[in-house]
Amino acid sequence: MRTFYQPHDINADLHCHSQFSDGILSVSHLLERAAHNGVQMLALTDHDELIGLNEASHIAADLHLSLVPGVEISVSWGSATIHVLGLQIDPTHEPLRQGLAQTRQGRDQRARDIAASLEKSCGIAGVYEGALRFAANPDMISRSHFARFLVEKGICKDVRSVFGRYLTQGKPGYVETRWAALKDALEWIHGAGGVAIVAHPGRYSLSANAREAFFDEFKQLGGEGVEVVTASHTTAQYHEFAKLAKNYDFMASRGSDFHGPEESRIDLGNLPPLPDSVVPIWHDWPARYPAWHARTPQLS
Ligand code: AMP
Ligand code: MN
Ligand code: MN
Ligand code: MN
Repeated sequence: MRTFYQPHDINADLHCHSQFSDGILSVSHLLERAAHNGVQMLALTDHDELIGLNEASHIAADLHLSLVPGVEISVSWGSATIHVLGLQIDPTHEPLRQGLAQTRQGRDQRARDIAASLEKSCGIAGVYEGALRFAANPDMISRSHFARFLVEKGICKDVRSVFGRYLTQGKPGYVETRWAALKDALEWIHGAGGVAIVAHPGRYSLSANAREAFFDEFKQLGGEGVEVVTASHTTAQYHEFAKLAKNYDFMASRGSDFHGPEESRIDLGNLPPLPDSVVPIWHDWPARYPAWHARTPQLS
């Protein structure tokens, strides 16, 4: 049979967030927006959470949108926090579900610690309750919810400034957290039949040596890809990480990391395409995930 599957020509957006983590939109509004923007293949990748995927798969079918089940896992690697995307994961895979439940578990205590620290060092009261009001899923309270509350309170003009002043390493509302181990995250993703991708690699402040050690380890653990085109990267970084992908023989991904209309610089589906020099992570999905492909005839 002839196939018309042309990976580089597909508008794939393989990284975004719904209200079930720190996105602003509900799953239905998110998917409608993606379809409206011309996205053909969308991965919902909530932080440490799978709860939106079932609803998303039903809505996607009505919108003729090819839904890729995904997740963005928070990983601690040394003292750094790294985000690893799992794409084409089976959301019913028990070790993945349990691992994520455990990863989420520390979040409520961390939120209380952040609030206590902001009250003690800056005299800002009621922050835990305030942030919780912004979290549609109380299981997944994130720094983004604190940022939104502090903007609402008039303490900062936007979310970005809250992170810069209060929520990043060395700032009064920063609380050290132990997330999943890299090895565990990759085992959960691979056990669930998925592929593992380093999200927005340009965002981590690792030394050149540490960065190399990290990618060596990720490769050795069977990691498949890196995000090359993402809203966090400059054009120069598209080229930098396309080169890294080639050197390590990683496949490349493209994802807006969309969180909401007011907060995200790049809308769903609006990034430039992947450079021709890289292999899109989705290039072999029709063969690798035939059941998924059968549900998405529009991509044949
Ligand atoms: P958490 O997992 O609770 O530590 O929150 C991490 C989330 O905070 C990320 O996924 C981003 O959505 C958001 N975030 C992190 N750093 C920044 C920043 N400098 N500006 C805006 N949002 C940020
Ligand atoms: Mn986020
Ligand atoms: Mn991330
Ligand atoms: Mn993200």
